Amino acid sequence: MWIRVDDTVEVLTGDDAGTRGKVLRVDRNAGKVVVEHVNRVYKHVRRSQKNPQGGRLSTEMPIQLSNVALVCASCGAASRIGARLLDDGSKERFCKKCGAGNGQISPPKARPVKK
Ligand SMILES: [Zn+2]
Repeated sequence: MWIRVDDTVEVLTGDDAGTRGKVLRVDRNAGKVVVEHVNRVYKHVRRSQKNPQGGRLSTEMPIQLSNVALVCASCGAASRIGARLLDDGSKERFCKKCGAGNGQISPPKARPVKK
């Protein structure tokens, strides 16, 4: 999974299909992401110390990772993401539509020597 916090993603399915937003949280174990302004629900809260008034609170709920696609920084399309090894040994994400790099995954290191 190549989605990270602060990425801009587009929602592909559901009520918010077509919406673009920033990734706020990623849950790698559950395979879910929380996207800004997407899947908003009203949470009913009781009166408490923190929230003396109680009432309804609007918050985002996590959505399935497979229902979002990364928006490419270079071509602006919601596209599938690949990972490739560069010559300096670093790994980067790339857009499968235009081929442009979309951020580093791991820092440069020596490539394993082929026997
Ligand atoms: Zn692209």
